[in-house]
Amino acid sequence: MKKSKFQVNEKGYYGEFGGAWIPEMMYTNIDELKRRYLEIIEADDFKAEFNQLMKDYVGRPSPLYFAKRLSEHYGSKIFLKREDLNHTGSHKLNNTVGQILLAQKLGKTRIIAETGAGQHGVATATVCALKGLKCVVYMGALDVKRQAPNVKKMKMLGAEVVPVHSGNKTLKDATNEAMRDWISNPVDTHYIIGSVVGPHPYPDMVARFQSIISAEIKSQLLEQTGSEFPTRVLACVGGGSNAAGAFSHFLDDEQVELIGVEAAGKGVDTPETAATLTVGSPGILHAAKTILMQNEDGQITEPYSISAGLDYPGIGPLHAHLHKTGRAKYLATTDEEVLKAALLLTQLEGIIPALESAHALAALAKIKMKPDDVNVINLSGSGNKDMETYLEYFGYLELSTE
Ligand SMILES: *Cc1c(COP(=O)(O)O)cnc(C)c1O
Repeated sequence: MKKSKFQVNEKGYYGEFGGAWIPEMMYTNIDELKRRYLEIIEADDFKAEFNQLMKDYVGRPSPLYFAKRLSEHYGSKIFLKREDLNHTGSHKLNNTVGQILLAQKLGKTRIIAETGAGQHGVATATVCALKGLKCVVYMGALDVKRQAPNVKKMKMLGAEVVPVHSGNKTLKDATNEAMRDWISNPVDTHYIIGSVVGPHPYPDMVARFQSIISAEIKSQLLEQTGSEFPTRVLACVGGGSNAAGAFSHFLDDEQVELIGVEAAGKGVDTPETAATLTVGSPGILHAAKTILMQNEDGQITEPYSISAGLDYPGIGPLHAHLHKTGRAKYLATTDEEVLKAALLLTQLEGIIPALESAHALAALAKIKMKPDDVNVINLSGSGNKDMETYLEYFGYLELSTE
């Protein structure tokens, strides 16, 4: 990844956001990572193994698909970056493959992770099976119930799933438990964080692994359109890793418009939302300074979205910075708009998107596009995991885009 002025600085900050606001007991773990991650992931042997696995195991490059009927519908050119076609059905494996290789180079034998919806837990359990490393996944007890199919997958892959009974029994509580585990096991354990969140160097490290997305978009666009620069790139934002990956190689190409799309849930003016940049304010979340959803006492408020993967009360510090500087724009789309956009893509292109990805699709209806604009949507994942939600909403027989 070439050096960008939007990249993290030596102190671990993106402008005023980021850093490593860790308890002293976690210093050893973070310090080791911080000192060694760049040297390890930029070495030729690391890159060779990472690229080999991206190709033969993940199935990269993922296609950049010109969506003809969707383009006709909107009267502008729309390309889909098909991260949904990766092994395990999303962009998440790009990061877990990178981190498992890093963990091995650091001599770690045990992996821990936190998961909310279970997608990151499955991606972590997958690479642990691939490399024969012990895997422990912390998951809120409520989420264990709500996401039973992913829990079964993790167990089949050989991971131990630990239900967390504290707090609201969701993602935040699972993260606290994982951090506690890491503090107690600093020598043999690596903690795989699933997005561009957490203390430095995680946001930068995860963004680097995901940046393969925009590297491919550039060369694929050049081949298909004669220019590597689209008019704009759109991606959904939970913590912000698929968006970071889709934006990375365009950050300094300021003619390319970057649009992140958060989950408005039932609406940004209701308590049931996950649109952090619209309703949030600066604070510390998961050991980083960023924008987060909090009440007047600084307590984290519970986010809501129809999509479990965007149901996060914060946003990665890179995005807080891109928002603040105006380099990227952030919109929010409601559950209702998202379901419509998912059905539209399904019926115009024969692709059922993940609910998360459908947030980016729904934003197409909210922006001004010219006929010759080239719009790239990062289709972060497949809708296989969301069929129950889709069917519940649309009914089994009366599917209609009206
Ligand atoms: C987890 C997930 C997301 C949200 O995570 P980011 O770090 O914001 O990318 C988006 N889409 C899919 C398909 C996911 O599984």
